[in-house]
Amino acid sequence: MAKEKIGFIGLGIMGRPMATHLLRGGHPMVVYNRTPSKVEPLVALGAEAGRNCTDVAERSEVVISMVGDSPDVECVYLGDEGVLVGARPGTLLIDMSTISPVVAVKVATAAAGNGCPMLDAPVSGGDVGAKNATLSIMVGGEPHVFERARPIFELLGTPVLCGPSGAGQTVKACNQIQVALNFIGMAEALVLGAKAGVDPGIVVKVLSAGYAQSKVMDVRGTRIIQGDFEPGFRSRFHYKDLNIIREAARAFQCSLPASALAHELFSAMLANGWGDLDHSAVIKVIESLSNVEARFGE
Ligand code: NAP
Repeated sequence: MAKEKIGFIGLGIMGRPMATHLLRGGHPMVVYNRTPSKVEPLVALGAEAGRNCTDVAERSEVVISMVGDSPDVECVYLGDEGVLVGARPGTLLIDMSTISPVVAVKVATAAAGNGCPMLDAPVSGGDVGAKNATLSIMVGGEPHVFERARPIFELLGTPVLCGPSGAGQTVKACNQIQVALNFIGMAEALVLGAKAGVDPGIVVKVLSAGYAQSKVMDVRGTRIIQGDFEPGFRSRFHYKDLNIIREAARAFQCSLPASALAHELFSAMLANGWGDLDHSAVIKVIESLSNVEARFGE
């Protein structure tokens, strides 16, 4: 049976490898990106180029978006040249960007008004997960819609249905709270050790072997104390996610004091010009408060 034709919108760090996997998985594809040159690698692999989001929707049975933030998703779906202008009833819409759960529900409600089922499906696993098709995919929506999308998701990684519309974005927000606070806790531990004269290498080694062990320490601990802050995930994206978390906390009347602190610390990163460093570089803010650097040999 012929595979459904996919319209893919947003061909950045994540979208380009994801679209490539779907194309290689046998889905005919039409692609669109705000900066037109980014469609060229996909067109070279056999995709068609769309003129705008409306055109992509008119030519697709499934539309997937992987853009930046909530306003981008509103523009892609609800704009004058948006997906909902062109999508026929029954077209499956999947937004895989990380955005506000509140906006995810708003867009899905508008889509339902046009007869289009919609899923929110943000991911974790970073650019490496996108390239290796090992993303963790957190999905919000109706179970039968999830089942229709499952074969597409399985070309990209492992999907989990988290609940109704918006639940995928909520779980992604939970993920980003935990990751930010792990980095901040690790930073404070390293700074106290350094200030007291203990080698940061010893702190990482001992904490990694006990109850304080965490994946962020496993992946980033040694690189932090080497002063290597090349991005996997940029601090300004994590700041965006902390804004989403604060908006969700307000919408659901939820008090998240540690997330509020994390928001301020990441705000300080951007103010210092560190927004394009990896999010582990939040240690630079904690270090500056105590006038110390937690590096090897100090
Ligand atoms: P990115 O490299 O900035 O890619 C986003 C793409 O969307 C850009 O190519 C951008 O076009 C395009 N775009 C934005 N608005 C558009 C519009 N209205 N119409 C058409 N195209 C539009 O970002 P990314 O790293 O791929 O991240 C995408 C999403 O995944 C974000 O929500 C991010 O938080 C999330 N995420 C990222 C990672 C990661 O490690 N990078 C991990 C997990 C989740 P331009 O070329 O014109 O800017």
